[in-house]
Amino acid sequence: MKLLQERILRDGNVKNGNVLKVDSFLNHQMDIGLFNEIGKEFKKIFGDLNINKILTIEASGIGIACITAQYFNVPVVFAKKAQSINIDEAVYSTKIESFTHRKAYDAIVSKKFLNANDKILIIDDFLANGCALAGLIDLARSAGASVEGIGIVIEKGFQSGGKMIRSMGVRLESLVIVDSMNAEDGSIVFRS
Ligand code: 5GP
Repeated sequence: MKLLQERILRDGNVKNGNVLKVDSFLNHQMDIGLFNEIGKEFKKIFGDLNINKILTIEASGIGIACITAQYFNVPVVFAKKAQSINIDEAVYSTKIESFTHRKAYDAIVSKKFLNANDKILIIDDFLANGCALAGLIDLARSAGASVEGIGIVIEKGFQSGGKMIRSMGVRLESLVIVDSMNAEDGSIVFRS
């Protein structure tokens, strides 16, 4: 997605530790015009799927998922990050290793909002090592739901997540894939 590549080059910042900061337009301040283009692009890619729900994870996935959902006319469910202490039988839960915070947390979804009839499109902002996605797939499968596709805004192709998730046989499409980036000179190379 050319528009997104240009925006990342203009406003993205490469940080140490393989972190790409895009908080001025994607996951802190949000450019809704750009989100609409992202939503349209996901509709173009996944419009053939017969989905009835979008699943994401708080917090950064929610805005993107909601705008995308308008193009599919389906509800959005987001996994909540929870304290283990609050986990009860009314929820599906999974453990996720956070890439940005480097610690594990539980993610939960109420059993009321995921079920065996659901055909799900998962949406998230970033794909790095794939832990967040593996957790979302686990939550969907715990409910007996099927994951029809996964849409990612920015995949860091030099990290292991893409390979791991694609090897699970799930259809995963990323709007941009970063092949390399350098915190020293700020350069970013996209996969063509
Ligand atoms: P994974 O579970 O694939 O290792 O990481 C995915 C999650 O970590 C995303 O939901 C995103 O919130 C966060 N994340 C991973 N890499 C980056 C990054 O380079 N920049 C930002 N802003 N978030 C990231």
